Amino acid sequence: MIFLKTEDEIELMRAANQLVAKTLAEVGKHIRPGVTTKELDKVAEEYIRDNGAVPTFKDFPNPCGGSPFPASICTSVNDVVVHGVPNDTPLVDGDLVSVDCGTLLNGFNGDSCYTFCVGEVTEEVAQLLDVTKKALYEGIASAQQGKRIGDISYAVQTLCESHGYGVVREFVGHGIGHKMHEDPQVPNYGRKGNGPMIKSGLCIAIEPMITMGSPKIYMCEDNWTIKTRDGKPSAHFEHTIAVHKGKVEILSSFEDIEKAN
Ligand code: MG
Ligand code: MG
Repeated sequence: MIFLKTEDEIELMRAANQLVAKTLAEVGKHIRPGVTTKELDKVAEEYIRDNGAVPTFKDFPNPCGGSPFPASICTSVNDVVVHGVPNDTPLVDGDLVSVDCGTLLNGFNGDSCYTFCVGEVTEEVAQLLDVTKKALYEGIASAQQGKRIGDISYAVQTLCESHGYGVVREFVGHGIGHKMHEDPQVPNYGRKGNGPMIKSGLCIAIEPMITMGSPKIYMCEDNWTIKTRDGKPSAHFEHTIAVHKGKVEILSSFEDIEKAN
């Protein structure tokens, strides 16, 4: 069931997502060769709690029956697609790291992800990031009232596959509100005109997870970390958006992240 949001609820969603945006910008300031993802997690958790919110990912139940997620952000390095668990391995020059963050503020959720470069990355990796981010914005541009979820999916898939990249099938975007994951699912692949109608009040997270090679993935023994099977790098960008007042509003933001980098 899709819960459409009122203007008052969208206001609260905006606040939760702006906090995610600011948290990601704060984390971004600390990303450099030598820093560990556990240190980045500490920065994120402190920032979220200092701003009166709860990090949604912390202690999130494991859908595969393993232990709950132990950290406040997912840090997915290089061939890790999503759900990377922060650890003590220092980042090195040329790595890429996707930082996915969720906050619960005044009963509503924020959810956004940005893939950062550590020092200098190769041109190949830079292009993967560029195209994945572009695909996110094309998906957002397709999220117009009266269109369908499949229009978003189609836009993301078409751009990424035209560059020869892989579109991960097993993980998808989602509705968001009181809960971090609500209906509808928002796949990054699909057909135009398919799926639920986009109505005013719809709040969804659009999140292309795009691989440089094959889209095939596997889960590591920790029951969280998802990696590409061919070991090639993967990128992940995510915004939470609201469709209302006849427009699409991006509730999260990359502005502070990109200003600082
Ligand atoms: Mg996310
Ligand atoms: Mg999400």
